[in-house]
Amino acid sequence: MTRPSALSYLTEQLEAWKKAGTYQRLRELESACEPVSKFDGKEVINLASNNYLGLANHPKLVEAECAAARKYGAGSGAVRTISGTMELHLELERRIAAFKHVEACVVFQSGFAANAGTVAAILTPEDHIISDELNHASIIDGCRLSKAKIHVFRHRDAAHAEERLKALEGVAGHKLLITDGVFSMDGDIGILPELTALAEKYGAIMMVDDAHASGVLGRNGRGTVDHFNLHGRVDVQVGTLSKAVGVLGGYVCGSRDLIEFLYHRARPFLFSTSHPPAVAAACLAAFDILEQEPERIEQLWKNTRFFQDGLHANGLSTGDSQSPITPIMVGEAATAHAFSRSLFDEGVFATGLGYPTVPQGKARIRTIVTSAHSREMLERAIGIITSVAKRMNILASASVPG
Ligand SMILES: *Cc1c(COP(=O)(O)O)cnc(C)c1O
Repeated sequence: MTRPSALSYLTEQLEAWKKAGTYQRLRELESACEPVSKFDGKEVINLASNNYLGLANHPKLVEAECAAARKYGAGSGAVRTISGTMELHLELERRIAAFKHVEACVVFQSGFAANAGTVAAILTPEDHIISDELNHASIIDGCRLSKAKIHVFRHRDAAHAEERLKALEGVAGHKLLITDGVFSMDGDIGILPELTALAEKYGAIMMVDDAHASGVLGRNGRGTVDHFNLHGRVDVQVGTLSKAVGVLGGYVCGSRDLIEFLYHRARPFLFSTSHPPAVAAACLAAFDILEQEPERIEQLWKNTRFFQDGLHANGLSTGDSQSPITPIMVGEAATAHAFSRSLFDEGVFATGLGYPTVPQGKARIRTIVTSAHSREMLERAIGIITSVAKRMNILASASVPG
């Protein structure tokens, strides 16, 4: 075979990334996901997971998975609309609907599928989407798939969102106003009360993506609608089962008719196989824990405050974070990746994030503490982050007082 590969342009791109210092090798997790986990043969303080409440390796979830697999098997055998709807899938949907105080719920294979599948299903090219500029990639993909016209508003800027809505007054088509509940890269909280009022004023559908708010904000982790007491006023609530819930999946909550419509039209629901029964069973066990052990959420927020206060006291900037997602801003992507590598060598795993995950020039490491981290682990992590930041001269450029 002497023909040059038709994919050689990809090899060139990879070489360019290696030169720029933005090429990333996948780190290999060799233990369960725990506050101290083993990656690439090394025990490190794990600040890189979304396992907010320590449920990913909780014995009750693991036991539920094993029991469900023994009773129902390893796989569901089909998509939901053919023969892949098991009683556990329906029980989980009823459970989530009751938990969220809504009429109905549909579970998707992932939060990504829930967002992309829902937005694409409920809108057409004649419709309009008014979207926060920092909304998650799965929302953006759903918007593109729907072919509706997209009107972006500046991050958390209600006045700008209103301008966008006003410009559409009298224009035909449905309007969807959409925001993340908690923004995944900055950890700030979406302006849901303001946007909900605007949706009501301008007759728009209100949708929130609570991927990082599920299990984190609101009573027992019910999310931002509960946190802001907006029950009955948000049409479409997306949540994830992959983060604080500790397993895998995404869900949409809303009216019975919205859910029935998605059963008929959401493409990931129609064309991709449903969860293994073990996944649904573990999620059910996780909701038991959310309802019975709210102290996990209290501990998560205590740990968050302790960790962020410690970083601030040492002169580090955590951007606009209002949640356990704590970015440490460094500027350039190559610096973020180098910072992350040095932290790892010292025993802390925190992800380096650069373009295109975050905008150019706003690279950072992102840390997420969980309820399962001990004080001692957090103190050690703060110490290591500070000393590496000092050594790399990140402290000076990143700390903008006030
Ligand atoms: C992680 C995330 C998703 C996707 O959820 P998965 O269940 O991991 O697919 C969607 N939206 C936001 C804001 C997220 O952070």
